[in-house]
Amino acid sequence: MLRGIPVSAGVCRGKILVLGKTRPSVGKRQLTDAELAEEVNRLEKALIQTRHQILEVQRKVSQGMGAKEGSIFDAHLLVLEDRTLLDEVVRVINQEKVNAEHAFHSVAERYAGTLAAIEDDYLRERASDMRDVADRVLKNLLGLEAEVDLHHLKEPCILICHDLTPSSTAQLDKQKVLGFATDVGSRISHTAIMARSLRLPAVVGMKDASQALESGQYALLDGYNGVIVVNPTDQTFFDYGVIIRKKATLEEKLRDILLKPAVTLDGHRVLLSANIEQTADTEEVKANGAEGVGLYRTEYLYINREQLPGEEQQYQAYRQVATALKPLPVVIRTLDLGGDKFLSHLQVPTEMNPFLGWRAIRFCLQEREIFRAQLRAILRASAEGNVKMMYPMISGLDELIQATTLVEEYKAELRRENIPFDERMEIGAMIETPSAAMVADSLAKRLKFFSIGTNDLIQYSLAVDRMNERIAHLYEPTHPAIVRLIKATVDAAHNHNIPVSVCGEMAGEAVLAPLLLGLGVDELSASPALVPPIKFLVRRLKLSEAKALADFALGCESGAEILARCKELARQSAPSLFENG
Ligand code: PEP
Ligand code: MG
Repeated sequence: MLRGIPVSAGVCRGKILVLGKTRPSVGKRQLTDAELAEEVNRLEKALIQTRHQILEVQRKVSQGMGAKEGSIFDAHLLVLEDRTLLDEVVRVINQEKVNAEHAFHSVAERYAGTLAAIEDDYLRERASDMRDVADRVLKNLLGLEAEVDLHHLKEPCILICHDLTPSSTAQLDKQKVLGFATDVGSRISHTAIMARSLRLPAVVGMKDASQALESGQYALLDGYNGVIVVNPTDQTFFDYGVIIRKKATLEEKLRDILLKPAVTLDGHRVLLSANIEQTADTEEVKANGAEGVGLYRTEYLYINREQLPGEEQQYQAYRQVATALKPLPVVIRTLDLGGDKFLSHLQVPTEMNPFLGWRAIRFCLQEREIFRAQLRAILRASAEGNVKMMYPMISGLDELIQATTLVEEYKAELRRENIPFDERMEIGAMIETPSAAMVADSLAKRLKFFSIGTNDLIQYSLAVDRMNERIAHLYEPTHPAIVRLIKATVDAAHNHNIPVSVCGEMAGEAVLAPLLLGLGVDELSASPALVPPIKFLVRRLKLSEAKALADFALGCESGAEILARCKELARQSAPSLFENG
């Protein structure tokens, strides 16, 4: 049994498919004289194997696409025939007495680095050929399989891999992928968020699952408790049968209240909306009884495609979401690229700290054409009447003013062009940096609503990378600092008569939702599937109890104690929500 962090509910069982057994590790190993000849032999075998693989790919490409396309691989074959390179590798093995992986990697990297540094497009291409081939040779030396094509899986499987990007997750075929587990990651990584959106059972932070497990093994993956059981026994199947039946009973209770409002026992109305990532998610919004979209992450329109989406294409996408949900409100968030979401076709420089770098509104304010296309598309979609817009990662007033100035400029353009839009479209901002929470007062004066992005607010306030499973224990939503920042944000908003929503993952945690409501949050926006359990809880809760919990939290110095109180209240209000994880 392997354990990790449960990030997306559900149980599945099937054959395991392990992808890419981590990256090729090219550790240096010192050899004895007696081992050298065998090492050179190993290198030669790997070179021959690589040559066969490239010829095979070339054959397939030539047949499928044409000889010209196939000839691209001639350059790869030439790398394998480059005597200067290969002689150098053999010399390093013999003289430095090191393993072939290390020798090959260091020599190939040096050659590729030299080629890449020359101001010549042709030579730069050769550097990338060299790296491609070197990767194959290394995988062969290490006995690693070539990458599996996720789009063409032959049979249903449970995917196990070191890491999965949010964009690959978005493209998983649910008919073929029953669930997945990764070595790294955390509950609030975008990969995890996407898994919940897709309702795909998932476990992350499994540390070395991709090393410990083998393709072809039969396993059960439990996304409720974060467990993988290899070769499950009859007893395990029986136990899980019980869990699944209990979950089914709960689902029935949740269905009963689907169309009922989220009102506490003492009559306080809470707005429950959903977070979406793609146009198709609107079905889930309706099916789960959400009262609109509190966060539409538009990034997925940009990733997973060859070219940037233009204004028209975006307009169609936004309009489709707005019309599908009318008259329910839809909050479209402007582009939040960077962090863990990148575009393959846009050359964004690698940064040391991408979450602190060229991300979200910072990127948009500099990439004006990209921002203009999106803002005009959102404005045009606002003609439907139920669209609102918000900016991600605002860190201070200047950014807000710059963005607002641009919006006014584009509104004027649309007026001149006689293109309709909603003159009164509400604009809000995400409060997800500590600085924004501290100056919430200045922001509130100029905005129509706030949406607290707790995923980032926690990461930035506690200085805990939201992607890093090693420090996941420090990622503490109930930390007194977070409780106070949320309260300060709510107070600033309410002083200016604007509402506050929470759209981070905290809003979908049944245990934490009462704390947020007690702190005065007006709306919770969570992954569609999490809306019914939150409504179930709200309908069994008294706002007065939630307020008492918040008062306790605001005076408490320990995040653990606050969490314990949160659990107590949530479990006592709706015990059936918490059975079996
Ligand atoms: C957040 O930071 O809480 C949020 C909702 O935005 P994202 O998860 O997309 O960064
Ligand atoms: Mg965020």
